[in-house]
Amino acid sequence: MGILDGKTAIVTGASRGIGLECARLLAVEGANVALFATNAERGKAAESEIRAAGGRASFTVVDVADGAATTQAIETVAREFGRIDLLVNNAGMTRDGLVVRMSDEDFDRVVDVNLGGAFHCTRSVAKVMMRQKSGRIVNIASVVGLIGNPGQANYAASKGAIIALTKSVARELASRGILVNAIAPGFIDTDMTGAMSPEQRDAAKAGIPLGRFGTPRDVANAVLFLAGPQADYITGQVLVVDGGLAM
Ligand code: NAP
Repeated sequence: MGILDGKTAIVTGASRGIGLECARLLAVEGANVALFATNAERGKAAESEIRAAGGRASFTVVDVADGAATTQAIETVAREFGRIDLLVNNAGMTRDGLVVRMSDEDFDRVVDVNLGGAFHCTRSVAKVMMRQKSGRIVNIASVVGLIGNPGQANYAASKGAIIALTKSVARELASRGILVNAIAPGFIDTDMTGAMSPEQRDAAKAGIPLGRFGTPRDVANAVLFLAGPQADYITGQVLVVDGGLAM
């Protein structure tokens, strides 16, 4: 018996990193998990891995920046399972650079994927959850959305905006029994931080009171908490999972 038995969850960006770990954990807790990502090979591998471990998972290629494709994919999940209980808006990307050299394309793409993707998924899923009069949405923001980061004006802006989106949608949907929260991770060991040099990692670690990068499981545990019954009275909040970095 898991705490999500019989529930249906959508995790975007579930082909690797934090999203894959969330999908694994939600499946272990009994949820049917719909995985969205852009890379078919990685997504299929994630689906197979979860199924091989006894979980229920189905992968769909979706670029969350594409509103029409996202709507269609979510409508398919709703038709197949009859309900959607949890949306984890996790898909995200970086295109770092100093603001004076940042191209319109790099700014727009990061905002379109990180913020636009969360908006597209929320809009479609909210319609289903409003009919059910229940549901949870967990948005993966970042500590840089709270404190900023040089070289990441586009990314930090998208993550700060996700926090504002979270609070607005939480206020809008509370009366329908839908709880909306955000998680703000610090440095987490995934492909996204994999490009850091050893020197950059050491400098980053020096600023983390707990003295280590987080694991995808550290973030997935927080997602599970916000998805489950222990968070029944929590909405519109930002849970920071960063080893103390931004306190
Ligand atoms: P990651 O390892 O780079 O994985 C990113 C995931 O997002 C992949 O599954 C990728 O799918 C998917 N994705 C990217 N663009 C997409 C799009 N347009 N449509 C659908 N899916 C897309 O990153 P991560 O570290 O796990 O990050 C997950 C989330 O946590 C992101 O929102 C990130 O901003 C946030 N976060 C990460 C850290 C960190 O230190 N790692 C810190 C704070 C916040 P494909 O495999 O198809 O490319």
